[in-house]
Amino acid sequence: MTDCIFCKIANGAIPSNKIFEDDDVLVFHDIHPVAPVHFLVVPKVHITSLAHADEAQQALLGKLLLVGARVARELGLADGFRTIVNTGAGGGQTVFHLHVHVLGGPGLSPRIAEVVTH
Ligand code: 5GP
Ligand code: ZN
Repeated sequence: MTDCIFCKIANGAIPSNKIFEDDDVLVFHDIHPVAPVHFLVVPKVHITSLAHADEAQQALLGKLLLVGARVARELGLADGFRTIVNTGAGGGQTVFHLHVHVLGGPGLSPRIAEVVTH
């Protein structure tokens, strides 16, 4: 997808604050963090949203979560973290290339309706 911002980040056309990359996924810090740690796990292949993923992508979807958990651990989120996948405009998605948000750090609210407590 030529006009997709996360495809451009994945192919290096737009820079990002990259944390991890392999053949399948890219992990980078969110440009507007809403928690002390806030990064995104993105498949390199363009998938518009979770609602557009198909069974052939089942392993890739699992990998997004496992990579997110590993990076969370590496960034020191031993206490835990929150994963969010906004899907579709009604689900709050604003970038239409599937991504997993990983949020953590001091002050993360125990309520999913809030991100931080302060
Ligand atoms: P959504 O609302 O689609 O679930 O989340 C999109 C996220 O992408 C937002 O948290 C937003 O801050 C982040 N974002 C949008 N454009 C860029 C960008 O160019 N670089 C980075 N690192 N994050 C971005
Ligand atoms: Zn894309």
